[in-house]
Amino acid sequence: MDFKVVKFGGSSLANAEMIKKAEAIVRSDPRRKYVVVSAPGKRFSGDTKVTDLLYACYEAAAEGREFEPILAEIRSRYDEIVEGLGAKLDLDAEFQTIRAHLRSKPQRDYMASRGEYLSARVIACYLGFEFVDAADFICFNSDGTFDWEITNRAVFAALRRVKRAVVPGFYGADEWGTVHTFSRGGSDITGSILARALSAAVYENWTDVSGMLMADPRVVADPRTIALITYKELRELAYMGATVMHEDAVFPVRKCGIPINIRNTNRPEDPGTMIVPAVEEEKDQGEITGIAGRSGFSTITIEKAMMNSEIGFGRRVLSVLEEHGISYEYMPSGVDTMSIVVSTIDLDPCRNQVMNEICHTVQPDVIYFEDNMAMIAVVGRGMVRRKGIAARALTAVAEAGINIRMIDQGSSELNIIIGVEEKERENAIRAIYAEFAK
Ligand code: ADP
Ligand code: ASP
Ligand code: MG
Repeated sequence: MDFKVVKFGGSSLANAEMIKKAEAIVRSDPRRKYVVVSAPGKRFSGDTKVTDLLYACYEAAAEGREFEPILAEIRSRYDEIVEGLGAKLDLDAEFQTIRAHLRSKPQRDYMASRGEYLSARVIACYLGFEFVDAADFICFNSDGTFDWEITNRAVFAALRRVKRAVVPGFYGADEWGTVHTFSRGGSDITGSILARALSAAVYENWTDVSGMLMADPRVVADPRTIALITYKELRELAYMGATVMHEDAVFPVRKCGIPINIRNTNRPEDPGTMIVPAVEEEKDQGEITGIAGRSGFSTITIEKAMMNSEIGFGRRVLSVLEEHGISYEYMPSGVDTMSIVVSTIDLDPCRNQVMNEICHTVQPDVIYFEDNMAMIAVVGRGMVRRKGIAARALTAVAEAGINIRMIDQGSSELNIIIGVEEKERENAIRAIYAEFAK
């Protein structure tokens, strides 16, 4: 029998009522054998995620402040869940261990990981599945980087004989047993790693929306669901702010073509979004697949007469960024100008040095930095075949009275990037959505 790896996000496990919905989903299909869980998320708007409470608790302890009230709040979140589920589980010993850790030499990643750890303990007990700790097979190097290949073998060895398991997402450990986490939202990655290592038929990712939507539902009211999307498109959209799925979660399953199905825990009857390696042309309907946008970018614009004939110009500019550990996002250029889009957070600590070193290295006529930029990505595999998509997206933005600061079209013709001022990000997304959702 083929089987599924299923991951439930924090919003799907925020309280006992939500966990019961997740239980019904797991029990309704015997192929749902491996369950990856997040820490409890927000129960209502304005609530705090358990992971955020854990970070706050760590910070208090690390700075020598009182951490007990925050720890008590975390404890009460789990007590409420255990009680609501009627689970037979005493978390006293677990919280004693956490308290002892906080009193000795607290570690940030270890503390953050306890959210998923405790969630998995409780849910495994409630479902009657085996609890298997991710620290035993999600393998990090001691510098915090993740080791894909060792992990792949370790997951297979640890889980292939386990009939039904609940596994905490988000973290793993190095060979010394030190816990490391992925970046925020990283339980999506754990699910994908398990799906690949165990050769699941599908990786189901259960969340609080009915799939990947054409635009962020917090920006566009009631956006359409994307029924079918390729890994590449998902990665583009996730990277550019469609946070429904961690941008790195596609890599493990992509290696062996396992589809991802994003589903809604509150509406299990909805088919959600299927994320697949490729889509046959005839099944392609939409003109674009989706729109996403992110703020926090700066551009470095350089002008110099005859730039185009100066061999090595671009390399010398980029080597300055490389020396400061800055990776660039986009680089639209003209004959005598080039703009480099970078993340403002990366640029800030070394802004002046970068400016001076570029001036010294390539002696530009003009160089200037612009901050508070947002990048909007219009993504769609169908753009290669259809004419006029870029023109329509740009016209929609311009007609909404928004000044376009930069345009970049990826060479694969999978996306068009439009740079606007941060304050126009949402308006630009709405204008493009209105044009293509007509
Ligand atoms: P989980 O707790 O299940 O991991 P997340 O909060 O990480 O869920 O992701 C789901 C959220 O992603 C949605 O509630 C929605 O607000 C947000 N989101 C942003 N862009 C999109 C998009 N294009 N499609 C769907 N959801 C999106
Ligand atoms: N709990 C972690 C976070 O909030 C990981 C996750 O939910 O995927 O980022
Ligand atoms: Mg998430």
